[in-house]
Amino acid sequence: MKLFYDFHIHSCLSPCGDNDSTPNNIVNMALIKGLQAIALSDHNTGRNCPAAMTVGKKNGLVVLPAMELTTSEDIHILCLFERYEDLQKLEKYIQTTRLRIRNKPEIFGRQLIMNENDEVIGEEEDLLIVSSGVSVEEAAALVKGFGGIPVPAHIDKQSNGLVGILGAFDYGLGFDMIECRIDSGVGLPRLVDSDAHYLWDISEAEHCIEAETCSAHGVFEALQKMCGKGGK
Ligand SMILES: [Zn+2]
Ligand SMILES: [Zn+2]
Repeated sequence: MKLFYDFHIHSCLSPCGDNDSTPNNIVNMALIKGLQAIALSDHNTGRNCPAAMTVGKKNGLVVLPAMELTTSEDIHILCLFERYEDLQKLEKYIQTTRLRIRNKPEIFGRQLIMNENDEVIGEEEDLLIVSSGVSVEEAAALVKGFGGIPVPAHIDKQSNGLVGILGAFDYGLGFDMIECRIDSGVGLPRLVDSDAHYLWDISEAEHCIEAETCSAHGVFEALQKMCGKGGK
């Protein structure tokens, strides 16, 4: 079956994400747009994923747990997972490598952690958009090791895009998929996502994947297949 997707959406936990991008608002907007599958991908954290996944489940929308990892070179890598526990392990690991700089909400924005009722249950105090200590050379193997799919994000963008920062696409880095709005000439499967920081920027039903079932497992397996990994 064809599933329309947007695998790169920020919530109110990203400092640059709008405070109205709550778990319920994101899920509802994705449904209004006609999507069947999304991923919640905040900067260097997945802590709003459990709420968004619960809301998604209640409303018939697949929500993959994800994060947008910042490498030590300031390259953004979208990390997609099937299970939140696996994403949590990656987060725990990168937390030990991340620079600890306190967030200044008045400058960068608040970093709100919410439950499935959109109630604030916490606020991240360390700024989330700083680089991790994970280099782009080790990122792919690290994310795959935790069971995720690493996807260099918005490679066509000058800021924080792999090609913009490294000057060219390096196939030796171990990535099997890219995210890019245009055909970049990189011969790998390509995702087209919104990178929405505001609700209205979430993708329309324009890009789809072919999956066996409309479930986190089905979507993740479809992505694995696109990466040439077969399915389990
Ligand atoms: Zn980014
Ligand atoms: Zn992003």
